[in-house]
Amino acid sequence: MKPLIVANWKMNPQSLAEAKRLFNSVKNGLKNIKNTEVVICPPFVYLPVLKIESKSPSFTISFGGQSCFWEEKGAFTGEVSPTMLKDLGCDYVILGHSERRKYLKETDEMINKKIKAVLSLGLKPILCIANLTKLKKSLRGIKDKVIIAYEPVFAIGTGKPCTIEKAKKMRNLIKCPVVLYGGSVNSQNAADYIKMAGFQGLLVGGASLDSEEFIKLAKNVAHI
Ligand code: PEP
Repeated sequence: MKPLIVANWKMNPQSLAEAKRLFNSVKNGLKNIKNTEVVICPPFVYLPVLKIESKSPSFTISFGGQSCFWEEKGAFTGEVSPTMLKDLGCDYVILGHSERRKYLKETDEMINKKIKAVLSLGLKPILCIANLTKLKKSLRGIKDKVIIAYEPVFAIGTGKPCTIEKAKKMRNLIKCPVVLYGGSVNSQNAADYIKMAGFQGLLVGGASLDSEEFIKLAKNVAHI
């Protein structure tokens, strides 16, 4: 499979104009990239506009949500359903990100319900986990293939990436076919997680907000 590079914009940038600028410079910079699938996960509110901006004959960027609720519709104020994400053209949904576990108290049980809802619609969940216990609990009763993102908490947004050796050990312990590495990935270290540690792709936070850096990162991975 082609390496999968998922950009998690988190709650950035602060205006639609900036989101369009960032998106278009990534789109133009990666126009001719071949061996890599790039997925952008912007804040929900930017999705419809960026989807329109994404139309390009030579390169298709895929979209993902950064979370979703487990029900399809109803009295769940502030939530977004997987059906809504699908309708807006998303193929992927990040679930169980450590920031949601920390600030919104998402539990493995909640994440398990979300994964099931996402799978039932044919969307691809990207399950973030920091250890094998979370992996096991979040996937309880789920037989379908789920993309896993191994994200050690100490490495997220800190500029202190996990060593290749430790990441490789963890990759070997996760018996799932598609596992991404996430945590302070940049253009310098990105390819090593795929080439040397055996990951199938990357989940990129901070570096995805700098178009030049993100383009360099994706090109380095595409040249593996
Ligand atoms: C993330 O938010 O999933 C992440 C890995 O962030 P960063 O790349 O900034 O460490």
